Amino acid sequence: MPELPEVETVKNIINPLIKGKTIDYIDIFYDRLIQSNLNEFKEKLINQTITEVTRYGKFLFIHLTSSYVIITHLRMEGKFRFNIDKSLARIKHTSLIFYFKDGSALSFDDTRKFGLMYLTDENNYKNVPMIKKLGVEANKVNISDMPSLYKKFNRKKPIKELLLDQTILCGIGNIYADEICYLSNINPFTPGNLLNTKNIDDIVKNAKITLEKAIQAGGSTIHSFHPSEGVDGKFQEELLCYGRVNQICPKCGTKFHKEFIGGRGTTFCPNCQVNPLLEKAIGITGPIGSGKSTLLNHFKEEGYIVYSCDELIHNLYKEEIHRRNISRILSINFDIENKEITKKARQIMIFDTSKKEAVENYIYPILEKELIKIVKENDSPVIEAPTLFKAHIEYLFKVILVIDISQLQQEKNLLNRKDDVASSKKFNHDFYYPKDLTKIRLVKATGEFESFFKNADEAIKSI
Ligand SMILES: [Zn+2]
Repeated sequence: MPELPEVETVKNIINPLIKGKTIDYIDIFYDRLIQSNLNEFKEKLINQTITEVTRYGKFLFIHLTSSYVIITHLRMEGKFRFNIDKSLARIKHTSLIFYFKDGSALSFDDTRKFGLMYLTDENNYKNVPMIKKLGVEANKVNISDMPSLYKKFNRKKPIKELLLDQTILCGIGNIYADEICYLSNINPFTPGNLLNTKNIDDIVKNAKITLEKAIQAGGSTIHSFHPSEGVDGKFQEELLCYGRVNQICPKCGTKFHKEFIGGRGTTFCPNCQVNPLLEKAIGITGPIGSGKSTLLNHFKEEGYIVYSCDELIHNLYKEEIHRRNISRILSINFDIENKEITKKARQIMIFDTSKKEAVENYIYPILEKELIKIVKENDSPVIEAPTLFKAHIEYLFKVILVIDISQLQQEKNLLNRKDDVASSKKFNHDFYYPKDLTKIRLVKATGEFESFFKNADEAIKSI
């Protein structure tokens, strides 16, 4: 659906083509296009001359002599098409044709038939309800508009829906709403009433920047929308987030997610755009043999609801579909219940890191869905997640305990549980954590339970 920049492009294309043309007659092939009186539309415009085409939000206004104004909206796929030779004016999806006295014609083609036209006049067009209710244009917000915008955004609906609500800001559609949320580091699911004034300021600033850049580039050509026959906007090449599901976020390395909000596909980076409604869990992570399970048990005894990602993954692997897919990736008959085979699977992954990666790329998104469910259903669940950062699920945690352990103590622990030290460390060589993430608390593993648990409890008290 064309948004403000695309409609601006349409205006800039058709205005010089039809300005000064006088209407000879009008053919209407789809009556419901005209939302004012149909006969008046056909009769009153004859012999009137077009003086100017203007725009507000996503609406176009065709101004004519005798003070007539046609309000028009392209909606999903409406397009204007100008022909010097009127014999070319009608094609398959043409809904209306203005024939001009000089033999040229302006057609309105609309495959989806959602477009509209409405005849009114200079004195009244701004008061027609569909125009009157529009908010300030998103690229023209002034500082004096802010107090009323803070109020209008202070609602329980997700910010994405509020950005699409033309009565708050007008001109933004699905594409630019996603871009604006991404640039503002705001999750599109965030209810408007959880945003502070700084968040709204960011949104307004980024709306201006995005729309102005898009206007300069002639808008975006997405799917079947072209502003005019043979004319393509260029801004789609600069879209940072829209349409990039499963591609990597350039800011943080997480894959873009796509979900639906109010029926509209919405792309976002879950880590750059943290959803405050999901940032609820307490995470435990650390290298192999650092005492993650011991710590998880401690929290269980303290009364927390606890989950272990290893256990969740173990249960997933019991499901036939996942067993089959892992078997295919590793080229073995995988069976999580069979110790010999799981050992062999581990060996394969140590030997061939691309296979390890393929397994992780397969199972992490499935695990992530399970974790989202857990976080939605529980307050402050404690989740042990050995690969928390590799799986890019930081956004589910309000605090992440990273166990800080010396090499010596780690090897001691591995020996205690009869693990092969060398192969365990090799399997886990890629453990890391982002040192600058503010929700991380380091918990020193001392080799002694009481002080280890005390360190963890202290870390949690700080949230
Ligand atoms: Zn990101």
